[in-house]
Amino acid sequence: MKPRKPNSDVLIIGAGMAGLTAAAELQCAGCSVRVLDKGRGVGGPMASRRMSEASFDHGAQFITTRDPRFVSALEGWRQTGVVEAWCRSFTEHADGHPRWRGKPCMNSLPKHLAHDLDVLLEQQVVALHCAHDQWRVETNMGEVYRANAVVLTPPVPQSLALLEASKFSLSPEMRSRLAAIEYERCLAVMAMLDRPSRLLPPGGLAPAENPIAWIADNQMKGISAVPAVTIHATHTFSLEHWDGDRQASGRLLLDAAATWLGAGIQTFQVHGWRYSKAMRVHEQARVIASQSPMLVLASDAFAGPKAEGAALSGWAATEAILKSTS
Ligand SMILES: Cc1cc2nc3c(=O)[nH]c(=O)nc-3n(C[C@H](O)[C@H](O)[C@H](O)COP(=O)(O)OP(=O)(O)OC[C@H]3O[C@@H](n4cnc5c(N)ncnc54)[C@H](O)[C@@H]3O)c2cc1C
Repeated sequence: MKPRKPNSDVLIIGAGMAGLTAAAELQCAGCSVRVLDKGRGVGGPMASRRMSEASFDHGAQFITTRDPRFVSALEGWRQTGVVEAWCRSFTEHADGHPRWRGKPCMNSLPKHLAHDLDVLLEQQVVALHCAHDQWRVETNMGEVYRANAVVLTPPVPQSLALLEASKFSLSPEMRSRLAAIEYERCLAVMAMLDRPSRLLPPGGLAPAENPIAWIADNQMKGISAVPAVTIHATHTFSLEHWDGDRQASGRLLLDAAATWLGAGIQTFQVHGWRYSKAMRVHEQARVIASQSPMLVLASDAFAGPKAEGAALSGWAATEAILKSTS
């Protein structure tokens, strides 16, 4: 095996949409880029899971586009075959905005973005320090990486905790603006059914009443070979039940969804998304915490709490880095 070089121009912490779009763009511009993620896979909440013959999108459910740059990127991903149109509405009234799904599942897009990148998984960054005008980044595996610039893309409270553990001080104003960003939580149930659900095509419903925020039929969506639903709890329910028995919470949600399901439950799992949606978005699309060597914070909390916002923030971080080196 070729020994891995410890240095890169840019090191990106987090292989979600923000980190991967930034990495792809920087690599395209000729920078050497490395991405580290603490997870076992890429994509963060752009996640999909299998449970025997059933498949689930259990985090992000679909992608919407508004910004011309993201519209154009999505068209490229559509042509590559990693996304496809799902529908234009989940009610009888089409609002004209297409909803895109990953093909075959939501995790396909981050996997595609990561394909040509140097992404190292199960590497939790535990400290970063500035030494000789470079960043020295340490992981929980005892690895040390060096880079001329770092992009931090974890949820903001995790980035702040990392900076604090690294004894990196932000200006009081910057710190207080970042510390004010709070997130909704989401308990997600993945349930395999004994027959198709009663959901109507296209297979998604936002009841907007506690305790259920969203139900999706993964079979109707086209990702599961057998009847399988994803249920997202509201923030209120998720917060109240966060520390409780997850199986018991799952049962409460399945009972609440019974009318829409109209089927028996074969088996189910519950996943908790601690940082599901930023309740407040920062006024800048990225935040430059240090100019030299460059340290930029980016994520969906900076340009909108969706896949699109994360990508726009990743690109904004890229622009800042390329500008500083030009
Ligand atoms: C339940 C749910 C439903 C959603 N539904 C939709 C939807 O329908 N449509 C939509 O557009 N968006 C949706 N979203 C939001 C969308 O998924 C996010 O906005 C987007 O994926 C966030 O990308 P990101 O890169 O900013 O963050 P993330 O994807 O969270 O990436 C951050 C990464 O950093 C890694 N990390 C954290 N700390 C460290 C560390 N110390 N060292 C190394 N790695 C670290 C994490 O493992 C993670 O992979 C949903 C999210 C959730 C949770």
